[in-house]
Amino acid sequence: MGSQTAIDTAPLIDSFGRVHKNLRISVTDRCNIRCFYCMPETVEFLPHKDILSFEEIARVVRVVAAAGVDRVRITGGEPLVRSQLHKLVGMVRAVEGIKDIAITTNGILLEDQAQRLKDAGLDRLNISLDTLDPKMYEKIARRKGLEKVLKGIVQAQEVGFKDIRLNAVALAGITETEIVPLALFARQNDLTLRFIEFMPLDGDQAWQTDQVISGETIRGVISEKVCELLPTKETVRSQPAVDFRYADGQGSVGFINSVSSPFCGACDRLRITADGRLRNCLFGTEEWNLIDTLRSGANDQTLLEIIRSGILKKKAGHGTDDVEFKRPGRAMYQIGG
Ligand code: SAM
Ligand code: SF4
Repeated sequence: MGSQTAIDTAPLIDSFGRVHKNLRISVTDRCNIRCFYCMPETVEFLPHKDILSFEEIARVVRVVAAAGVDRVRITGGEPLVRSQLHKLVGMVRAVEGIKDIAITTNGILLEDQAQRLKDAGLDRLNISLDTLDPKMYEKIARRKGLEKVLKGIVQAQEVGFKDIRLNAVALAGITETEIVPLALFARQNDLTLRFIEFMPLDGDQAWQTDQVISGETIRGVISEKVCELLPTKETVRSQPAVDFRYADGQGSVGFINSVSSPFCGACDRLRITADGRLRNCLFGTEEWNLIDTLRSGANDQTLLEIIRSGILKKKAGHGTDDVEFKRPGRAMYQIGG
């Protein structure tokens, strides 16, 4: 149990004035597929004892919520492989100040869990889907699963999730043939499509600049072959996607151009890995050990001070375009995308 001592509720501001309101929590490094841009084929997972418990995660959420965090995203690894995940959603829902809870999932286990997640208070879902072609899916994910993902999407809509986002990683040499089918599928099914540029966070460490297909290129293809995409005025500054709306009013497409056009200037995110490390940036090379603090009997104020010290060391930008850029030691599935 965390200590109930009074804590300093000042906002979580870094040295560039960015106020942190958005917590991304990885609940596991495990996954039921093996996307080549994220995970190596053979992986040694963290032992269960080294993973934060739901109670520990909820305590971190309570502490940062007291300092102004109001949005939580649950991710992984694949969050839905963590047993009883809906219970964590319910625990986060009960934290005062949390306005929005979202999950990023590959969707494979969603058909079974959508209702429980909805009932527990989950607000939003991002579902990762790079292709609608079963063979291409298997090539990317190194496992079968497309059919289950599609069923998961239908079920999520049936239980009442609105504004579901489809995330597709934009990969040169792969995505070109997928752009139009994905755009049409999203338009027909009332889903918002987002393309995320391939980032140097793959477990195989095989990322190359020429594998990045920019959002600009994809937007051109959609505008030409599906319907013209026009800029929207509503894009929220702190959200990474730049949104465009279809000229005929039937939906929108977002682009997370993390490599070609980083959005660090408005970043309001902090991250907790499944093994309880605070990260102030996806691409950061430094981590702050919260799990030992949580398990040492330290009070909430001590926990928050460690979190503040990590935020204060956040850099102005992720620097992937810098010649001195060093990849983080951990891949996407270990950090939490
Ligand atoms: N397993 C869940 C999923 O796939 O949605 C959640 C975790 S996954 C790491 C979160 C997001 O990161 C997914 O949308 C995935 O496509 C994206 N991702 C993984 N590796 C990436 C990379 N190297 N570059 C860009 N996006 C990546
Ligand atoms: Fe698993 Fe998500 Fe990584 Fe794909 S992107 S391997 S689904 S954690």
